[in-house]
Amino acid sequence: MLIATIETFILRVPLGGKTFYSSQAKFPERNSLLVKITTDTGLVGWGEGGQYGPPEPVASCINHVLAPLLIGTEAGGPVVISERLYSFSRDFGQKGTYIEAISAIDIALWDIWGKALGQPVHMLMGGAFRTSVHAYATGCYYPDRPWDQEQIIADIEVEAASYVSSGFDILKMKVGLLSVEQDMERVAAVRRSIGPDIRLLVDCNHAYNAVTAIRIGRELEKFGVHWIEEPVVPEDRAGYRRVRDAITIPVAGGEAEFTRYGFRDLFVEGCVDVAQPDLCVCGGISEWIKIQTLASSFGVLVVPHVWGSGVALAAALQALATIPPLPHTANPIVLQNEPIVEFDRKHNPLRDDLLVENFVLENGFLQVPQGPGLGITVDETVLRKYLIPA
Ligand code: MG
Repeated sequence: MLIATIETFILRVPLGGKTFYSSQAKFPERNSLLVKITTDTGLVGWGEGGQYGPPEPVASCINHVLAPLLIGTEAGGPVVISERLYSFSRDFGQKGTYIEAISAIDIALWDIWGKALGQPVHMLMGGAFRTSVHAYATGCYYPDRPWDQEQIIADIEVEAASYVSSGFDILKMKVGLLSVEQDMERVAAVRRSIGPDIRLLVDCNHAYNAVTAIRIGRELEKFGVHWIEEPVVPEDRAGYRRVRDAITIPVAGGEAEFTRYGFRDLFVEGCVDVAQPDLCVCGGISEWIKIQTLASSFGVLVVPHVWGSGVALAAALQALATIPPLPHTANPIVLQNEPIVEFDRKHNPLRDDLLVENFVLENGFLQVPQGPGLGITVDETVLRKYLIPA
């Protein structure tokens, strides 16, 4: 079974009036870079590379550098192919675009391999610990309109309550765009709205230096927060350690980290309690397996970061199915030793419309797709609707 073609697709959907902000970025659109690999036997595999950064460099890397290396070669054995691609690009691509491109190709090859063997990816990875994954709602971003703190507080209370009424019992909100005082008012409003029993996660998107992050962390302790995400910039591993040593809230991070080597440094230096490799960023499923193994040896729970299209979410669900409870216990408890899946709640047609299948939230859980490969079917009519000409 040989690789016959490798095609890339840049998808883009303007969000118009639904534009939102994190502490780092304005989100006026959704975009995704998808790759479609077709074999000489007619099998098709889909992958995705990158998260919210511009998809063009990743597409270029695949089209002009990596695809020519692969066309006409054996399509099986994604681990072997990924290892070879990383070795090829090591001298100039240990992080960033090259790894995102390898991620996309790797995910597509796992999809093909599963279809060739008639098994879902999680079975090829060794089997599933769970057939559905406890989901958390990511929301409570910043709106795209003139700031009115009173209105924002009123709106965020309504938004947070809406997630609880749609079945979530874990919610993640954003901080870091405003002053500590203004953001703590937002956190207080969300906690007031959802009550004491809903688990609350707080994502800083690396808005702070260590000393401010510690100040924020101590404030968040009063609101029963279950993790603080990316408190400092990803390069500041000493800062991560300072924050982790200073507060009792678990520290999460890693969505902007790459490969086993990047995560090794996070673990060895004691930076995180929860590691968040993004399947479409960290090196794909092949590299994610190594990161998960490393994490388990350091007692770090892995909760993949999920952004992008339905392809990215399907890949994450396949991987999540395979994570053992950490540590093992007769009664695994969510977040204590059971992983969760990120389910962003902002408008995303690339996730909600692109696939023939729908992701269904039932009692706060998302089902792991059970069909061969990633277990999904890309609707190419929808794909063409969002396609940007190359
Ligand atoms: Mg995040």
